[in-house]
Amino acid sequence: MAIRNIRIIGDEVLKKTCKEVKEITPRISQLIDDMLDTMYEANGVGLAASQVGILKRIVVIDTEGGCPYVLINPRILETSGEQTGQEACLSVPGKTGVVTRPNYVKVRAYDEEMQPFELEGTELLARAICHEVEHLDGCLYVERVEGELMDVEDLEEE
Ligand code: ZN
Repeated sequence: MAIRNIRIIGDEVLKKTCKEVKEITPRISQLIDDMLDTMYEANGVGLAASQVGILKRIVVIDTEGGCPYVLINPRILETSGEQTGQEACLSVPGKTGVVTRPNYVKVRAYDEEMQPFELEGTELLARAICHEVEHLDGCLYVERVEGELMDVEDLEEE
């Protein structure tokens, strides 16, 4: 188990576009294992490779706890509906903001054996897929926040 350092907003690496993965090497397998460990350690529901400083198109997502998805070279095929709710990011610690996202997403990606698959998600899973895929293109959710970015602590006091 290896926990990697999560890069924080302001770090230039978070603004960079990640490159497609061409093949699974031992280094990539190790990266994926470490990303899962790092996400769980930080109590996150998703993590993109750029958040640990690696510019590869890999994201891990687990919105249910114990049901992780590894998406390599993910491409969103279809979206529909709308949801508006609180969002947060491990690279923007202590903050939260309201973001509108599709309520349904269908994504095509490759798994850890480079086998293609499709995944459909609604609600939190749809939100997480959109959020993580945007990381791969150097976008943070703070650019999409409606109104102001809030402190999580302030929110809990209310
Ligand atoms: Zn994020």
